[in-house]
Amino acid sequence: MLDVVPDLAVRRGEGRTGVDPADEPDRRQLGGAHQTHWDAMATQEFSTASPPTGVGLEGLREAARHCRACPLWEPATQTVFGEGPVDARVVLVGEQPGDVEDRKGEPFVGPAGRLLDRALDDAGIDRKQAYVTNAVKHFRFTQTGKRRLHQTPGSEHVVACRPWLDAELALVNPELVVCLGATAAKALLGNQFRITKQRGQLMPFEPPRSGAGTLFDGGDDEDAAVHSTWIMATTHPSAVLRVGDDLREAAYDALVADLRVGLEALA
Ligand code: SF4
Repeated sequence: MLDVVPDLAVRRGEGRTGVDPADEPDRRQLGGAHQTHWDAMATQEFSTASPPTGVGLEGLREAARHCRACPLWEPATQTVFGEGPVDARVVLVGEQPGDVEDRKGEPFVGPAGRLLDRALDDAGIDRKQAYVTNAVKHFRFTQTGKRRLHQTPGSEHVVACRPWLDAELALVNPELVVCLGATAAKALLGNQFRITKQRGQLMPFEPPRSGAGTLFDGGDDEDAAVHSTWIMATTHPSAVLRVGDDLREAAYDALVADLRVGLEALA
């Protein structure tokens, strides 16, 4: 088993600086068992993930299976690591796996994933040629009877999980990163980023680099091409599914339009 040793740099609360209230669950509405669940989570310490170096994507995936850096691993079924070719030109970053993804162990294979597939197809992006992952690799949820209700990951989960995303970006070294939704956008573009105002805008991006002397040295991309990398954010496909029937087509068209802007970065 690969050694995954969390450093204890980020303790409970430290990663919460600048938390957007929109990212926080409303604890006043979480009564009974929910409150107990939240409090149990809040009493656990957070560390940051420590991906191994020089193991390639498969080695990272195997190591991430054993990550215990934050409390999300425990109620979840499994780690849902990114998928796609290591030489992908496009990396799509979502928020976290959903209920279906948690059970299947693959990213974006539920209803939101099917909508994303259709949007990518309409935008002219081949999903099989893209690397698809999430900012947080375990499903955060609250249990209500038999149902598992999605809970937005907190900034502390994003911070704890960030090294896995950095390691993926370093190895894939894409030309375009697409953040799907606010959590991914804030993870990579900062907490001040606002999807509503800045979606669909291409910006230069400096991805983490692999190579000698870097955090992810000893990787398998010694011949990695040097190229510009762009980043943009758009809405999460699950948000398109959540809007009312009368607004869904427009929301879908806006998602496709943003993805087409991203495609321009590859031209
Ligand atoms: S969510 Fe990320 S940091 Fe937390 S246990 Fe899972 S893989 Fe590790």
